[in-house]
Amino acid sequence: MAKQPTGSKTKPSTRRRRSAAKDTVGTNPPPTPQTTESPISSETASAAPVPQERPTTQSRLEPEQPEQPEQPEQPEQPEQPEQPEQPEQPEQPEQPEQPEQPEQPEASPVVAQPPAREAPAPYPESEPPPPSAPARPGLFVVHVTPELATVAKVGGLADVVFGLSRELAIRGNHVEIVLPKYASMRYDQIYDLHEVHRDLWVPWYDGAIHCSVYFGFVHDRKCFFIEPHSGDDFFDRPAIYGYPDDVLRYAFFSRAAIEFLWQSGKHPDVIHCHDWQTALLPVYLYEFYQRLGMTHPRVCLTIHNFAHQGVVDGELLHATGLQHPARFHHHDRLGDPRYPGMLNLLKGGIVYSNFVTTVSPRYAFETKDQGQGFGLEGVLHAHQIKYGGVVNGIDYDLWNPEIDRHIPARYGLETIEAKYDDKRALRQRLMLADNEKAIVAFIGRLDPQKGLELVRHAIFYTLERGAQFVLLGSSPDPAINADFWGLKRMLNDSPDCHLEIGFDEELAHLIYAGADMMLVPSRFEPCGLTQMIALRYGTIPVVRAVGGLADTVFDKDHAARPLHERNGYVFNDYDHAGLESALGRAIACYHDYPGDFRALMHNAMRTDYSWNRPGQDYLNIYDYIRNG
Ligand code: ADP
Repeated sequence: MAKQPTGSKTKPSTRRRRSAAKDTVGTNPPPTPQTTESPISSETASAAPVPQERPTTQSRLEPEQPEQPEQPEQPEQPEQPEQPEQPEQPEQPEQPEQPEQPEQPEASPVVAQPPAREAPAPYPESEPPPPSAPARPGLFVVHVTPELATVAKVGGLADVVFGLSRELAIRGNHVEIVLPKYASMRYDQIYDLHEVHRDLWVPWYDGAIHCSVYFGFVHDRKCFFIEPHSGDDFFDRPAIYGYPDDVLRYAFFSRAAIEFLWQSGKHPDVIHCHDWQTALLPVYLYEFYQRLGMTHPRVCLTIHNFAHQGVVDGELLHATGLQHPARFHHHDRLGDPRYPGMLNLLKGGIVYSNFVTTVSPRYAFETKDQGQGFGLEGVLHAHQIKYGGVVNGIDYDLWNPEIDRHIPARYGLETIEAKYDDKRALRQRLMLADNEKAIVAFIGRLDPQKGLELVRHAIFYTLERGAQFVLLGSSPDPAINADFWGLKRMLNDSPDCHLEIGFDEELAHLIYAGADMMLVPSRFEPCGLTQMIALRYGTIPVVRAVGGLADTVFDKDHAARPLHERNGYVFNDYDHAGLESALGRAIACYHDYPGDFRALMHNAMRTDYSWNRPGQDYLNIYDYIRNG
């Protein structure tokens, strides 16, 4: 656990000013929107396990009141710290009324129904994209994030911020991104990086840490990078994550990000936070900064994976100045539901944000109602009125077989034959036999989440069924890597199998283009990008019906969808029989009914998983919380 930072430069006057605010407990719960329209488009909702028709009775939603944070006694007004010049604040009550009863079920974006896989959701490909909202003023949106493709990427979160920020900008909004200035970033991908703020002092323990802020463009996105100068070296480390003080590192970053917005006089309409790493930002906003004049911004928090929550002991309160242990350890606020005495940053983000999304409607349902919330099911229920799922998009500039510079043969719907040139190229590169067989592929982190026992079984099953198998993956866990290396050695002589243990972006492109099927047998999958990328390349996904996989892949034989919307193979049970039922049908169709398989490839390539629809969904959410 990090101790009092050593070597932090402190600025006494700042410290004094802050302490007045810190010593007083804020009483401002986040405003809850009161509009009656769901902010998430019906198109997205229809693809999700939400009711196909609007619920008409209260019982279809949870009848209980959304729990509000405990209202502590009103403390004496703190001495107001010196205010920086504040821009005029738009008229808005600090504490908009809370809805009396959740008796306006139409207002709830929450996923309250069992999965609707059998209830077809009609949005045929021919349907035009959702109409853009009538002329509306652009919003000022700031993403505060620990990751951003292409400079600091660990997982899908980096791609989401990259893709969504561009989509929002295209739609006429002003978008900025705030992230840590990691030593390990891809600086070659940042254009015109320069210092813009030399004197940012961020309260930390009893002092403050001196930070600099840099500005630069990452593929046209406007980015601010925060660099703390202290003996802790929070971001001056070889990797992005994996340190014992990770929770404090990001608690500091979140504080630095909002302090930067406040000191630089920025008053975004929406601050969009991502995952536990930035989940404390709304807590700071409503506990400290609102009374310093920051009454304008609303906060949207997107949770990309509930498996990681940022759980920490009471040291957090000393470090951050959230000084009232009884208040913050309370189960209505940051008290961790599973580990008594611990604090949970993600939970704090859920309680304090104005809206919370996760990355698919199905995962929203699973996390709240199916025990997949890693202990946060209760808090999701309590705040269900402001919780919903939006399927991620993929960046079609990056993932597009018509323009992909990593593949030797480019192709589209009309030129799909060229895909087989990529198949040959893939075989050549991996020294596989050139024959009539189908190629089944797996690309992903070798993490238990991804269904590794089923991946292993699929390799042998595929070979037994007369097809070829290609795997590209890696794990930070040496035991898992060793296991797959063992498998690789065992299959080394097979002309029909290649396992590539490592991370290789370019090879991934060639596999998406050259394979016939993409296997995604996850135990749980918040959204999943691999199946969406595969669809774009006409590579048929074979997936387990969980999370975003269930929202994006529809079974060729069993889906309750029109034929032209069916785009893959789906199985339910996490066992060998389940996997074989889907993979076996896919391989059989490839060999025995090539015409049907080709039709399926066409359906796959026509499926639109660009950022167009989710971009509109997020704008609806922003409007919803702004109008609250
Ligand atoms: P997660 O975020 O859980 O890792 P996603 O499916 O959301 O899974 O995103 C995975 C992304 O990372 C995809 O773009 C996939 O192509 C890429 N990827 C995963 N493993 C590798 C690898 N070993 N080499 C290259 N790309 C990889």
